[in-house]
Amino acid sequence: MRNRRAALTAIAGAASLALTLTACGQSGSGGSKEKAGDVKGATIGIAMPTKSSERWIADGANVVKDLKAKGYKTKLVYGNDDPETQVSQIENLITQGVKGLIIAAIDNKSLNSVLKEAKAANIPVISYDRLILGTPDVDYYASFDNEKVGTLQGTYLVHKLGLDSGKNGPFNIELFAGSNDDNNTRYFFGGAMKVLQPYIDQKKLVVQSGQTALNQVTTLRWDGATAQKRMEDILTSKYQSAKVDAVLSPYDGISIGILAALKSDGYGTASKPLPVITGQDAELASVKSIIAGQQTQTVYKDIRKLAQVATTMVDDALHGKKPQVNDTKTYDNGKKVVPAFLLQPVSVDKSNYEDVLVKGGYYTDAQLK
Ligand code: BGC
Repeated sequence: MRNRRAALTAIAGAASLALTLTACGQSGSGGSKEKAGDVKGATIGIAMPTKSSERWIADGANVVKDLKAKGYKTKLVYGNDDPETQVSQIENLITQGVKGLIIAAIDNKSLNSVLKEAKAANIPVISYDRLILGTPDVDYYASFDNEKVGTLQGTYLVHKLGLDSGKNGPFNIELFAGSNDDNNTRYFFGGAMKVLQPYIDQKKLVVQSGQTALNQVTTLRWDGATAQKRMEDILTSKYQSAKVDAVLSPYDGISIGILAALKSDGYGTASKPLPVITGQDAELASVKSIIAGQQTQTVYKDIRKLAQVATTMVDDALHGKKPQVNDTKTYDNGKKVVPAFLLQPVSVDKSNYEDVLVKGGYYTDAQLK
């Protein structure tokens, strides 16, 4: 399977390179005016946020693989979830002469001055997965429909509780969001709350902690231990007699922390079942947890496709060709609306993981055992 996929990727890469070579000479906005010959064998810098989550390790590997298939060299760095480290890593990449940059930001607002340097060096910048804010010096955005990620989580909770089929509850729910310095956070939370808020207003969903505003429910750097601590505090102060029925969790690593808090509070038995709990990224530990009946759902984003989109964008920009985008309205970063290509997320639970993740070649059955 792996080899077949690698071969297909290589073929797709070669075909796309041939296309971009044909297109060489055309110029488009955001692209440098270099000719194909000038960028052949050039190095692309890739800045990823952290190795503490599987998805970013896979993202880095996928981007490197796709760029190599397009004939580039690569320099891949991980910022250890520290914004200052990431800034100096990007500075180093520019000094080392990279011709393009693909960046998944840690703090979306910390990159303004370093990206000025990139612009001065005529380096196209692709914002990867997370939108970089407050600078005109970002050329394209490759991501998923981030609001839809939240909509899928909210809709899943409503459906699992039966609120969309006549049940009135009231059900107790607690809300968690991602890191406040990640632009995606407000899209995920906003998408989920569009679905959940009407039920909260009708008192069919009750947030016993009273924490419903985004700034009350964020989790710095998406840290599972931080979320676990917050869930423990809420359970101690608000759920001595009440029971949690549902938890909106934005990301698998956070769901695992929340589950740990719940389990140490005695949830997970016939008399005190675990609440319905969402997630995101279809990380291996969480898919196993879903199969074991603990985490209930995750949102799968095919990051193999994301890598293809981002690497094709940088390749096109370097050949003076306008990259393909499918959204030119949503992602205003405060300085410009960044042209984006958004992929579709998919809700996954016990009922469809086999079809989506195994048949889709993301995991093998053996990995999920
Ligand atoms: C990504 C999510 C991920 C989260 C934590 C977000 O920016 O879009 O896929 O779960 O960061 O790493």
